[in-house]
Amino acid sequence: MKKLLLPMILLASIAQAQDNFSVPFNKINTEVQKNSKAFATLKYETEHIGHRLTGSPNGAKAEQYVFNLLKSYGCDVKFQPFSVESWSRKTISLKIGQANQLKTIKAVSLAYSPVKANVNAQIIDMGNGLESDYAANPDAVKGKIALIYLHTLPNSPKGTLSLHRSEKTAIAINNGAIGAIFINSVKNGVLLTGTASVTGKLISIPAICIGLEDGMALKEKLKTETQFAAIQMTNFSGIINARNVIATFKGTEKPNEKIVVGAHLDSWDLATGAIDNGIGSFAVIDMARTFAKLKFKNKRSVEFVLFMGEEQGLLGSKAYVELAKKTNKLKDVKFMLNYDMNNDQKGYLTTREEMKPLFTEWGKEVAKIDTGFKNLFVVNAGLHSDHQSFMVEGIPTGEGTGGKLPNNSGPYYHSDNDDFKFVDEQELKNTVRYSAMLTYALANTKEIPVQKLNEVEIKTFLEKFNLKEPLKIAGEWRWKD
Ligand SMILES: [Zn+2]
Repeated sequence: MKKLLLPMILLASIAQAQDNFSVPFNKINTEVQKNSKAFATLKYETEHIGHRLTGSPNGAKAEQYVFNLLKSYGCDVKFQPFSVESWSRKTISLKIGQANQLKTIKAVSLAYSPVKANVNAQIIDMGNGLESDYAANPDAVKGKIALIYLHTLPNSPKGTLSLHRSEKTAIAINNGAIGAIFINSVKNGVLLTGTASVTGKLISIPAICIGLEDGMALKEKLKTETQFAAIQMTNFSGIINARNVIATFKGTEKPNEKIVVGAHLDSWDLATGAIDNGIGSFAVIDMARTFAKLKFKNKRSVEFVLFMGEEQGLLGSKAYVELAKKTNKLKDVKFMLNYDMNNDQKGYLTTREEMKPLFTEWGKEVAKIDTGFKNLFVVNAGLHSDHQSFMVEGIPTGEGTGGKLPNNSGPYYHSDNDDFKFVDEQELKNTVRYSAMLTYALANTKEIPVQKLNEVEIKTFLEKFNLKEPLKIAGEWRWKD
């Protein structure tokens, strides 16, 4: 069998090797290494605007800043406005202690907590907050406040799985808790935000996060004495307005075939979101700058899209897809690349195995230019960023793989410490270079060998990557079985 297959494999790789992108890749490389503006513009944004919370005045300022920036690079730019139901925090107060001796503790609300809550109750330590923790202590939390470790407690049995904070909140609610206090796992009082809702709708109890030191001290006290908490909060829930920002480069031969290169521009509001997702969005902005500067004539159209509303539930990319469906333009999208906290990638990842010959062929060319690029190739499909909105419509998606976040910033994502100090200039340039090359290749290769999947194929695809359960929990599984 092997002998028979070999000539076919050789033929296939020869057939795929017809792209010669050495010249444009080198041009991209030189341009980005010399003139990238990603680092400087992200620095400016974090210093002069700050966070980019969707629907907030800051968010609107960031949208305008990026629009002007792309315009100044000579791009064809437009806003794509959308109105959608969203959530933002207003006030919070947390007091903890023995009855009548409550003391204020620093805390933040998790997203989709109620618009108003005023809860006073006993605190029960529910460990990791998994089903097994409640099964071991049934009814313990009924009418009380659950204290839950955000990730996995260090002394947990080996192999203890962790669930997302939204899933842990759902379990607490199902067990009758009237409040949930999460202990972050990052040292020095770092606070984390993010959604506590599995469906993107308001949850019925207040869910909040406290720092590691406060949380562990509380756990210790609970071993010997009863502790109470008073949680008071107000939040906003309602319709907000936001704008995706789109820079379009029209294709010369196949203008109706489109490569979408996306990144979410929005951030949470506790810090400036330099990592989540400053590094991804400002990399994509700089990719657009590079395309404009080099005046590429691409076969296919390329759209660089800065999405808003990702953090509240992929709101901007969902709006993009809905509009494209309504105008019958979604079929034009041949491939979607997404950059969410991608940094200094070592290879390419895609949802579609059929892309391997092309991706690795192109990657070989990239590795010739810079041996730091290892030409890894990974097939995988996950959820929880803007590629999801396209992927569930059957569109092939991809991103970088094998990189790691700069300066060990991983633990600080979604936290009050996600700031510019973590950004690494050269690593950011690497993201721009390697991703701009991939974008160029997708826009100019003769034939993209993958098609949009049909409804039956999409279902099989999602099941294959074990995405049925999480999509069901989120209420986004549209098939009957
Ligand atoms: Zn993100």
